[in-house]
Amino acid sequence: MFKRRMTRTKRTITILVALTLIVTGQLILRQREEVDLELYPQLIPQVLPAISTDQSVIVHDPYDYPGEYYKAQLHMHTNKSLDGKWSTETAVNAYYEAGYTYLAITDHDRVTLFDGINDPNFVIIAGEENTVPWPFWPLGAHMLRLFVDSPQRSGNAQTRISSAVRADGIAGIAHPNWSGNLTTGKWTLPQMLALHDYTLVEVYNPHSNSRKDTATWHELIRRLGPEISVWAIAVDDAHDENLFNRGWVMVKTEGVSEEALKEALLRGSFYASTGPTVVFGVEDGVITARIEGDEPAEISFIAGNGEVVYSITSTEGSYEPKGNEGFIRVEVETKRGKRAWSQPFWLEVGEAL
Ligand SMILES: [Zn+2]
Ligand SMILES: [Zn+2]
Repeated sequence: MFKRRMTRTKRTITILVALTLIVTGQLILRQREEVDLELYPQLIPQVLPAISTDQSVIVHDPYDYPGEYYKAQLHMHTNKSLDGKWSTETAVNAYYEAGYTYLAITDHDRVTLFDGINDPNFVIIAGEENTVPWPFWPLGAHMLRLFVDSPQRSGNAQTRISSAVRADGIAGIAHPNWSGNLTTGKWTLPQMLALHDYTLVEVYNPHSNSRKDTATWHELIRRLGPEISVWAIAVDDAHDENLFNRGWVMVKTEGVSEEALKEALLRGSFYASTGPTVVFGVEDGVITARIEGDEPAEISFIAGNGEVVYSITSTEGSYEPKGNEGFIRVEVETKRGKRAWSQPFWLEVGEAL
């Protein structure tokens, strides 16, 4: 009799646990939306179509704005993060001394403020590195929320992006191929396509795989097309001085201000770098890359379909788009493996002038 009651109790508990797991599982799955890739086809075909000679090509140049280039770090931690090892003051001073003009402090799930440096030519941006809990905090993937004065601790990924944008901030996807957080830290292409209103994607972060992150970003913009801009950034994601000054962006702003930085980040007037200083631009319909200094590097012009359409080892390279490439982006790599990434130059084909 007693034994039978025990068996029944056990069975009830098992059923209850199973039901709870199913319900939580469903809720968790709904938190992490992803699209069917077939519904988001590659807008630029694998084999580039021929274009007729009586058509003209307009090259959209994200760098065609007045201003100077300034160095910016958009992702770093202080000891206000559980895994951060240097004080806010030490960290900020290190960036200031290294010649950075813009610095976003992005501690985990909190906003850290610092006003210890009084220099109008050094701008600290409030932000956070937000954990999108999956299946529960602290597991899950990370995103950057910049120009926000408070962290967002609830909601799914889209809620977290939208609240940043509503607060006049900018959101970005951190280290898409980071295999940390027991592999819950990854952002897949279908997940990134399910989200909207974010502006940045890391193509270089020392904790992630930069080749894979670059490929993910390339596939993303190839499917989003020219109307939805998602730009590439390189970051340190430093937690102490060891990963300091490894990856940054050079941003073209007119004067130095938080507003100017925000505008430039939204329109793509910046490039990602782990070393080379490059001037990217368009001259008479030709896309050019000029490297500062006399160390030659491999300059590759990559079409929307992923094909390297032209490559040269030099301090300068240029490529005249045929018009069928969808977009052209430029990658630079020095002999020592230091790299720079331009944003895409989107092409528009029109009637001949
Ligand atoms: Zn992270
Ligand atoms: Zn981080």
